[in-house]
Amino acid sequence: MKTVLVTGASGQLGQCIRKIADNYPDLNFIFKSSAELDITKVSEISNLFSESKIDYCINCAAYTNVEKAEVQSGLAYAINADAVKSLAEVCDENNTVLIHISTDYVFDGEANSPLNENYKTNPINVYGASKLKGEEYIAKALSEYFIIRTSWLYSEFGHNFLNTILKKAEEKATLNITDSQLGTPTNANDLAQFILELVNEENKKFGLYHFSNLGEATWYDFAAAILEFSGYKKQVVLNKSNSYKTMAARPTYSILDKSKLKSILKKEVPNWRDSLEELIASIKKL
Ligand code: NDP
Repeated sequence: MKTVLVTGASGQLGQCIRKIADNYPDLNFIFKSSAELDITKVSEISNLFSESKIDYCINCAAYTNVEKAEVQSGLAYAINADAVKSLAEVCDENNTVLIHISTDYVFDGEANSPLNENYKTNPINVYGASKLKGEEYIAKALSEYFIIRTSWLYSEFGHNFLNTILKKAEEKATLNITDSQLGTPTNANDLAQFILELVNEENKKFGLYHFSNLGEATWYDFAAAILEFSGYKKQVVLNKSNSYKTMAARPTYSILDKSKLKSILKKEVPNWRDSLEELIASIKKL
């Protein structure tokens, strides 16, 4: 039986993994929240790895506040880069496969066709730069790793665009949403399933992969689809707006090319609208 450590287990992706963990009876999971395992503390990581043989480490721990990263760059780098370096080194010492999640924000948004894994990186905000550094440290320290860049994650868990729009819709707020960025909303449950399939089948095609749902959208399109599928369309005023000022610059184009991903996938990744509709239907049932 393979043992799988999940760090940052109380975050959005961590909770999506926990939700389906029982579907994988041949895997023994160790879930650690930030309170139970702080990945910036090397001794905590080393102690845990010396207690039991860990075959896979799925690193869901990250500093993810893109706005705050602009003013807390030290902390963003400590978690997204330095801690990832230590984690990669401990994985190397213990023959552990590291599965790490990165972001479309490693790109500058200047492209106008889907970005593959070899496309030049050039982050335009601190969060993206700190995540890119983490990627670089892993590639240097380890050979048995998966780095999975994804985009615009949402799910029923935690703070994300879906939950924000649903809350605002319940309050009957007027929504002003930008249509100046093009990307792909990605259901974190789809990503969780992809990751656990990699582990379960002991996939050895290590390396860097792009994973998102299929299709493309602006944040305005994403909001409109949420309102449509949740039945709130008629009671909410949705405007296109680009006047909202942010501290962090965002890439205007960040659609990820999934050709490499397709080479290791067993089943097709759903289109973003289909996956969103399905998730909202399941939330409504509850
Ligand atoms: P969340 O912010 O929901 O989860 C991150 C988790 O990391 C939180 O539970 C947080 O705990 C934990 N954490 C923070 N610092 C530490 C630390 N020092 N030690 C251990 N745990 C820590 O993020 P997501 O689940 O949405 O993101 C998963 C991954 O996907 C991340 O790598 C992120 O960069 C990447 N990603 C996310 C996107 C998105 O839109 N959300 C888009 C693209 C990539 P606490 O809350 O207690 O601080």
